Amino acid sequence: MIDPRETRPGTRVVHAGQRPEPTTGAVMPPIFLSSTYAQDSPGVHKGFDYTRAQNPTRYALERMIALLEGSTISEETDPSCGGFAFSSGMAATSLILDLLDQGSRVVTGDDLYGGTHRLFKQVRERSQGLQTIPVDLTDTKNFEDAMTSDTAMVWLETPTNPLLKVIDLEAIVRIAKAKNPNTIVVCDNTFATPLNQRPLLLGCDIVMHSATKYLNGHSDCVAGLLATSDPELADRIRFIQKSAGPVLSPFDSYMVLRGVKTLDVRMQRHNESGLSIARWLESRSDMERVVHPGLLSHPQHEIAKKQMTGFGGMITIFVEGGIDRARTMLERVKVFALAESLGGVESLIEHPAIMTHASVPPDQRAELGISDSLIRLSVGIEDPADLIADLEQALA
Ligand SMILES: *Cc1c(COP(=O)(O)O)cnc(C)c1O
Repeated sequence: MIDPRETRPGTRVVHAGQRPEPTTGAVMPPIFLSSTYAQDSPGVHKGFDYTRAQNPTRYALERMIALLEGSTISEETDPSCGGFAFSSGMAATSLILDLLDQGSRVVTGDDLYGGTHRLFKQVRERSQGLQTIPVDLTDTKNFEDAMTSDTAMVWLETPTNPLLKVIDLEAIVRIAKAKNPNTIVVCDNTFATPLNQRPLLLGCDIVMHSATKYLNGHSDCVAGLLATSDPELADRIRFIQKSAGPVLSPFDSYMVLRGVKTLDVRMQRHNESGLSIARWLESRSDMERVVHPGLLSHPQHEIAKKQMTGFGGMITIFVEGGIDRARTMLERVKVFALAESLGGVESLIEHPAIMTHASVPPDQRAELGISDSLIRLSVGIEDPADLIADLEQALA
């Protein structure tokens, strides 16, 4: 077996974390559904005693995400190499917050996934006394002012959802660690995927994924993943994973592993089609603004070029004509499906102010620029010419 760390991403997505099953030689990892494992003598077993704590199918996926994100933890010291799988992206996020003590101070990006914002503000402020300080992290001066020596965690997404702001991860890590070397910097890498951006290599402590999106890629499973290169953090996460129990089922672990095998080829198409459709939209006269990290007009395009190897399939547009025109367009699309979520093989289109970001209060939406003319596109892997034709007829 070749060491996956010696291979390129396109090879890693197919093989990392997996090996032929020893009893039968089955090439694909079997789905081990058993909740418990027979022991030779009390407490003497093969490393597995109960599936909430250890499961071979889940371990394979956990190793996969750790190796894709570039974790340096070896399988000899940790059977999942610093990777962890949960029943949803929100369960993974919730678990990270359990690392923090009561009343901790957390600096976050100001443009977060709606559900993350809801968990921080409407659940953890009450149950954990969490203090969250939202900051526009595209301006590192803002972050320097907000970051204090008692800040326990920095939570960010890049590119952000839905405004696709790009945040300079190396700069944020440098400033954060200078103020408090023990602060935990977490990056939600859902939009970029480890094929376009690897935050652990830029100094982040934990990478989080909603694997429901690009990693699984087929819109048929809900899952969350974490990866870290820090053995001490990995031990703490494993302890809470086992204690709180929000683990991914063996079947869904298999689903995500299967999806990830095509991640490299899918991302190539998402990256190419995303950029070409963004350029086409930008060339139209009826767009107020088109946002995609690969466009020269993107305010942080240079940072995107520095830290990303591709710019993904997410595009945000502001259409002329406000809510009425936006609604007409959303009703008329035929190839794009009007639906929440993103990152699947099929193209999706949605209206954040009414759909995914309705839980962000209206005044805050206005302040952030999530207006009624904002539409978010998740470009799938269909033929891009059909996608452009569909958008053209919907806008006509
Ligand atoms: C979807 C999403 C989440 C939440 O993940 P679930 O799998 O839906 O629980 C978190 N962050 C981002 C950026 C997302 O897009």
